[in-house]
Amino acid sequence: MKIKKGDTVKILKGKDNGKTGKVIKVDYKNESVLVEGLNFYKKHTRPKRQGEKGEIIQVSRPIKISNIGLFCAYCNQPVRFGCRFEKDQKVRFCLKCKNAI
Ligand SMILES: [Zn+2]
Repeated sequence: MKIKKGDTVKILKGKDNGKTGKVIKVDYKNESVLVEGLNFYKKHTRPKRQGEKGEIIQVSRPIKISNIGLFCAYCNQPVRFGCRFEKDQKVRFCLKCKNAI
């Protein structure tokens, strides 16, 4: 499955199951993506200087591409999609409603 940066995807597995978000980074090598605002975990940082407190920051963890689905705004659900050419541009479209994604 080809997922690109900026795509809206739906999480199909895990604690964020059913949530949708925007892809902010794709890691093809590890077949995973970073989705904005999803799959957070809390990370404790060490104090940089003495006397400072450590912070708790939220970090997005990559999600396996197999655990997400490309979301079709028209169908309002994750869908299977294909590719077609429109004005010499490769466009992905929803196999269900035929709208470009
Ligand atoms: Zn659709």
